[in-house]
Amino acid sequence: MTTPTVTGRGRLIALRAGWLFDGTGSALIPNPLVVIDGGTIVAVGSGMVAPQGADIIDLGGAALLPGLVDTHVHLAFDASADPVGALADRDDEQARQAMIRAGQTALRGGVTTVRDLGDRDYLSLGLRGQPGLPTIVAAGPPVTTPGGHCHYLGGVAEPTEAGVRAAVGERVERGVDVIKIMASGGNLTPGTHQHLPQFTPEVLRAAVDEAHRHGLQVTAHAHAPGAIADAVAAGADGLEHVSFWTEDSVDAPAELIQLIADRRTVVGATVGMVPVPGLMPPPEVRARLPLIVANTRRLHEAGAQIVAGTDAGIAPIKPHDVLRQAPDMLREIGFGQADALRAITSVAAGVIGLGHRKGRIAPGFDADILAVDGDPVAEPGALHRIRAVWARGAAVPDAGSRPGEAPAVSPRPAVR
Ligand SMILES: [Zn+2]
Repeated sequence: MTTPTVTGRGRLIALRAGWLFDGTGSALIPNPLVVIDGGTIVAVGSGMVAPQGADIIDLGGAALLPGLVDTHVHLAFDASADPVGALADRDDEQARQAMIRAGQTALRGGVTTVRDLGDRDYLSLGLRGQPGLPTIVAAGPPVTTPGGHCHYLGGVAEPTEAGVRAAVGERVERGVDVIKIMASGGNLTPGTHQHLPQFTPEVLRAAVDEAHRHGLQVTAHAHAPGAIADAVAAGADGLEHVSFWTEDSVDAPAELIQLIADRRTVVGATVGMVPVPGLMPPPEVRARLPLIVANTRRLHEAGAQIVAGTDAGIAPIKPHDVLRQAPDMLREIGFGQADALRAITSVAAGVIGLGHRKGRIAPGFDADILAVDGDPVAEPGALHRIRAVWARGAAVPDAGSRPGEAPAVSPRPAVR
């Protein structure tokens, strides 16, 4: 296989395949040809002739789709049984190396863009733009309260209006792409409470206002109904999890569901799980999960904008390439399979501010492309039969293999 160079002007690459899902439509386009120049797609057509002198890669009957976009990952968490402890044991350089491995895992699984919603010490910012890694949109350490959810990541702010404005200001200075704020407690942090807000409505509003003043979006980790309501009222651009978690169950008031839909506050649904023998979500999650799915379905029916944010890295069932499992749960929420594929490509790209160059196979867009064996719209399982991945025009080594697995040996691209 030819690997295009990304420095200087190399030869054009022309990918020929059986079908194409372009990230926006519902129907597959037959006999596509996608022409790549360096890191960019320059032409897409059905039954087109390859430009003279281009290197042609013939993928036979494979389907091409845009590289996947995960709106919520944690590169710093290593998807082990104790990701928090593992990170605590690493110094910054060791953590950085683990984050690189996490990024490579994502890429091999077709996830070519990730939004990292919580690292330690702003480590993810230094990985942006590195070859061999996904495109990274980075929040740095989430803004939280003293002792609050994920306080150990270093993002503690004084829980006052001045305190959170200063915290946002520090992140602006560091050059983050988005602000993540912990509006409620969370499962990964003993001593915090998922069913309770962490900030007062006024303080949350100040954080959002300060971020918007600097042109940054805010997405709020919000489990508790009160935290969800406060984040929406504060004008947060997005919500993560949105479980409506109460002390003993969940409670999603109809008017709050309608408000989220009406305000166009993006719902980052925590979907996608890789079955691991002997491993299940904790009992308090398991008991609530059917109710959370039902409430997310109500959000979908109310017209809310829903994307998949897997929370990759936080557990063994959430490896960094888990996003291709997300459509299974999105269909439970009421998505059709084509809608689900849009949610993890073009819609996700738009939500994280990269709708102009990610999530579509179209001229002018980044050459982030996934080739799978089969029709991913008619047969969801095809998404797991990865034949090749390109990230910004570069072929990803060992595409389709998961850590600890041998690289896929089943059908490789055939040269015809
Ligand atoms: Zn998270």
